[in-house]
This record gives sequence, C-alpha cells and structure tokens, in this order.
Amino acid sequence: MTDRDKGKATRLVEGGRRKEWRRRLVNPPVERASTILFDSVADLHASRPALGTYRYGLQGTATQWALAEALTELEPGAAGTALYSSGLAAITTPLLAVLEPGDELLATDSVYGPTRRFCDSFLSRYGVATRYYDPLVGSGIADLIGNRTRAILLESPGSLTMEVQDVPGICAIARKRGIVTLLDNTWATPLLFPAIAAGVDITVLAATKYVGGHADVMLGAATATPDHYDRLQEISWDLGHCVSPDDAWLGSRGLRTMAVRLKQHEESALKVADWLKSQPQVGRVLHPAFSDCPGHEQWKRDFHGSSGLFSFELKGARAAFIDGLELFGIGYSWGGYESLALPISPYRTTSTAPAPNLVRLHIGLEDPDDLIADLGESLAALER
Ligand SMILES: *Cc1c(COP(=O)(O)O)cnc(C)c1O
Repeated sequence: MTDRDKGKATRLVEGGRRKEWRRRLVNPPVERASTILFDSVADLHASRPALGTYRYGLQGTATQWALAEALTELEPGAAGTALYSSGLAAITTPLLAVLEPGDELLATDSVYGPTRRFCDSFLSRYGVATRYYDPLVGSGIADLIGNRTRAILLESPGSLTMEVQDVPGICAIARKRGIVTLLDNTWATPLLFPAIAAGVDITVLAATKYVGGHADVMLGAATATPDHYDRLQEISWDLGHCVSPDDAWLGSRGLRTMAVRLKQHEESALKVADWLKSQPQVGRVLHPAFSDCPGHEQWKRDFHGSSGLFSFELKGARAAFIDGLELFGIGYSWGGYESLALPISPYRTTSTAPAPNLVRLHIGLEDPDDLIADLGESLAALER
C-alpha cells in the first residue's frame, strides 16, 4: 500500500511509529534528554539540527518526532510539523516566521481571543498592522489586500460564533498574490478538514483540544508546506520552543483514538444541538452543520463532518443556567472527553455577533441523553 491509499484512521494509528523509534514496543517511549552524547568531536561537528537527528534536547527525541510525523501524515502535501507548548504558541510563532516590521496582516474578525490580543499588542509594537476582515468575506478578500499585506490568518469555524469561511477560495486568491495563509484548524482537525490540500500554507492545531483529548496536556502544532516548513522550524528553535517528551507522549497517546472520539463528539453534539433548537428558552443555535449557521454552505462543501463544540443563544440568565448544570464543567478549553459550558461574549469590529447572550457547549463522551436531561432540568429551573 502506498501512503496515499490509506484512510485517515489508519494513518492516525500508524503515523510516527517508526520501528527505529519504538523498537519492539507499540509506542515510541518517553525519551527524556537535554544532552545527547556524541562518539567523537568530528561527529559532534557534523551534526545539524533536524527532526529525526539526535543532537540536543531542544530538537527533541523520538518521542516528539513521532508526534510531529504523525500530525504531518494527516495533512497530504505537508512537509513537516513544528510542536509547541501551547496552541497559542503554535499561532504566534508562525506569524513571527512570516511577518516583518512594516507588513500588514489580515486576520479574521472571528479569531481566537488571545490571538487577537497578540496581534493588537505584540505585533503592533513589532511594527505589523493587523486589519480584521468579516469571516464571511469570501472572494471579497481580494479587495482588502494591499501592497503591504503579507499574510492572512484564518480560523474556520471561527471562535465562539462558528462562522465557516471559504478557506479554499481565500487561499487561492492569496497564493496568486504571493500572500501566506495561516489557518487555525483546531475545531475540525485534519480529519474533518485537511487544510494543506485546501491551499493553506501553515495550518495550526491547539493540540490541547482534540489531539490530547483528555484535558490533561497543553500542546500546539503547526504543519506547513515545503515552502514554509524549514523557516518555521528554524524560527521555532531560534525562539527556544520545545515540547517536553512527556507532553508529546500524551499527545501521541490521544491522537491514536482521535478518529473514534471525534465521531462520538459529532453524533452526540448533533443530538444535543437538535434538541436545544426546539426548546422555547433557546434562540439561535450556531452549529456549522445547521443550515442557518453563517457559512454553512462552505461547511457542506469542504468538511468531512462536525465536532463537539457549538454555541447557542439563551433567552434567560446565563450564569444561573450554567451553574444549574451537573454534568457540564465550567472552565476554559475544550476537546476533552468531558462536557463543558461557558458564557461567551464575542468581540467584533467588522460586524455584530450573530446572536446575543451566547452559551458555548463542548459535548463530551457522556451519554447524550443524560446531557439532554441535565440541560432540560436547568432550562426548566430558569422558568421557576
Ligand atoms: C484553545 C484554542 C487555542 C489555544 O490553545 P491553547 O493550547 O489553549 O493555547 C487556539 N485556537 C483555538 C480555536 C482554541 O480554541
């Protein structure tokens, strides 16, 4: 079988498990190292920093290489993956690899909040101006590109409000004009949206979410095309980024089951979202698989399914509703096996948010009927 013949679940199971890395074990073990010992001064001088070459702890060991390689294999057309100690670092570092003082960045108005903060604070001080665009801009992006525009930062669906973008359309326009595209692909993962094949130059995962899958590790990954990977990895090492082997190992451990987990997240989230839609205390349900979600047509055209995160408009007191839930945790992040609820307040400069008083749910791996009963009880309590 050539790699191209293999399905995604097979690549997920096999990826990065080279025999020379795992020896007779199923999984490459946790190899902890700072110093790597060389046999001679000549060998030391001959060594170059590269994934797959034991050189210094910063470049990692088989534990990190296995995760990076497995993630690369999920993105046909990609040259490699750089790992980071958080999803946020996996966004900020590629931006620094691509942008120079004097450049302009076009960023989606639906971008993850801390990413917006980085653009408006650090990048602005660094001399890069960020202009936000409406996530539904589509081919209208062409009119926003100026002669200083160096990069476009996409996120689809967008954080909190779930607008799905025309990623292939925007990337095709950008590539023709020599502009680099970066995508935060955390919601879909490469299983639901292979980004490099869609024309993205650098695709980013907060691996903290579905790759880890168990709410116990912070991790990020940026996977890039051959035109961008070497520079990205070099800048990452220049900035001193590395991931601990223990965290990388947890990432690989989570990755092996990501396909089956995502299927269950999808099925349960659709069931819960469908039920919510018919409740009198619920307004709009923002789920990319629903026809009234902004950008739904793009989702239908480009995605292989949906995951477990969506938002809805609550007609009632959000804090009381969320506090009243028993099975949903209250806290940041998502993508683990457990359900979560969060009141959210999207910040927008190009338009208003699609609905007020939003609650975001992450649907975990509990029985969906139990989640629905829990939500139903808390909704009913709002009426009393
Ligand atoms: C959580 C998240 C991030 C950041 O990941 P961390 O690992 O928490 O730093 C980035 N993008 C999106 C869409 C996220 O939901």
